[in-house]
Amino acid sequence: MSSELFYDKKPGFDKANKAAVMAYAEGYKAFLDEGKTERDATAAIVRRAEAAGYQPWKRGMDVRPGDKLYQINRDKGVILAHIGRTSLAEGVHLTAAHLDAPRIDIRTVPLYEQEGMAFFKTHYYGGIKKYQWTAIPLELRGVVCVCKDGKIERVPVHIGNKPEDPKFVITDLLIHLASDQMTKKATEVIKAENMNILLGSMPSENAEKDEKNKIKLAILEYLHQEYGMSEVDFLSAELTCVPAFNACDIGFDRSFVGAYGHDDRVCSYPAATALIDNADVPAHTNMCLLVDKEEIGSDGVTGMQSRAFDTFLSDLCRAQGVLPEECFEHSICLSADVCNAYDPNYAEVSEPRNDARVNCGLAIIKYTGARGKSGTSDASAELMARVRTILDGAGVVWQTGQLGRVDQGGGGTVAMYLANRNIDTVDAGVPVLSMHAPFEVIAKLDLYMAYQGFGAFYRAE
Ligand code: MN
Ligand code: MN
Repeated sequence: MSSELFYDKKPGFDKANKAAVMAYAEGYKAFLDEGKTERDATAAIVRRAEAAGYQPWKRGMDVRPGDKLYQINRDKGVILAHIGRTSLAEGVHLTAAHLDAPRIDIRTVPLYEQEGMAFFKTHYYGGIKKYQWTAIPLELRGVVCVCKDGKIERVPVHIGNKPEDPKFVITDLLIHLASDQMTKKATEVIKAENMNILLGSMPSENAEKDEKNKIKLAILEYLHQEYGMSEVDFLSAELTCVPAFNACDIGFDRSFVGAYGHDDRVCSYPAATALIDNADVPAHTNMCLLVDKEEIGSDGVTGMQSRAFDTFLSDLCRAQGVLPEECFEHSICLSADVCNAYDPNYAEVSEPRNDARVNCGLAIIKYTGARGKSGTSDASAELMARVRTILDGAGVVWQTGQLGRVDQGGGGTVAMYLANRNIDTVDAGVPVLSMHAPFEVIAKLDLYMAYQGFGAFYRAE
């Protein structure tokens, strides 16, 4: 009797097909290594969608049941749509996740030489513990728009992801001279202005004898040869340093994946692949919205607060003669973002009844926020019931989650920006260990259950 009346979070091993769990993680690891920036992740998702028959949306196209459409937003995000049997007036089943992750961005005027070494100045992106980003191998990714004679050439940059490539690093202070540093608060151990990327030390052979900045010159010569760029082209570049290690299995039993950027590719990937893998024409139109800029507040044209999503969905509605407001009003959304996994090594910041646990499945989070639920859309009891019913009906292993102890910190997701559009929204995501560290950890079972859960949500009537 008690087993029927109690609610307990339980690991889902008895309900999961282990071979399917392990196999699905292989595809995910490949995606992680391809998609370490929002631009690369967008391209990786589009490749998979196109292979399944998705076509780029053009304004004025017909929108019929079974159509598979996508729209890229400035190369930094993408919306996938699988048109359903019912009219868009009945709403869409939407998942929304983000493709950006914390990283080290290169500044606009970055290159300098000092004491026999050349460096890039940086500005960190997103919430990081700065000390975690020193003394680890970094790779350089991004794009440079080279401007010459009134023409613009967009040149992609990838250095450090191939085995033969050089890598980059932010140096740390040796422990032998760190007696002052070690007494500082963690927020002050590494200063942002000292997070400079080591680039090289060999002087140019073409420099005049008493010319200054010979090392800087040698680096500019290399960049000019490889990318056709000059120093001024940094002004029209987006370059970033991300960890240079690839995704790998963790543990004797390989039950975890360790990688850079699980937040939020561990939700983006299952949200997108569950849509792409669903061959049947769904009852409601299914959409997967993958955005940028979540880690810095969701502002800007590629963030969740941009009108890009509204414009696309309104375009689809107009093609069916439907009032967009009616579509929004009847839509439901799973805001697919990660949450903290309960970590017994840091039990003091957790609350064991409510925090999500590894291997207990997809975590549904009614509210996020901080300081008394500030900054959350707080899903309704009715929506929680609807999502519960969908997940239980499909045999998905799932649990509830929250962001740690109340008043310990907190945070938000894109959920509120969707809910503010009059779309019923609740957070659903994979629990992560070491979230926002350069190397985060997730459980393969939770990843697979996210895939199963999003699939059930798309298929629901
Ligand atoms: Mn996130
Ligand atoms: Mn995050």
